[in-house]
Amino acid sequence: MTPISIKKFVELTINNNPDINPKELEETLRAVLEEKEGGARCMNCGAPIWVAGSALVGSHMCFTCLTGEADDSDDFEVLG
Ligand SMILES: [Zn+2]
Repeated sequence: MTPISIKKFVELTINNNPDINPKELEETLRAVLEEKEGGARCMNCGAPIWVAGSALVGSHMCFTCLTGEADDSDDFEVLG
């Protein structure tokens, strides 16, 4: 995945989804990132979670379970 800062990810997401509250999204991303560092795993398969996607859907999920794709090279992951 392409690493991206939380701020940049919020910017990109807001551009595509003007209804999302940027402050709330940023707070959720920070919280999910912390949970990942604390060992949170995909609730479906137990793989490490995808922070960017998990923050958007509100559940701890990995990339494959969220998107149904195995190839994550075109997608972003937040680094904090
Ligand atoms: Zn999974």
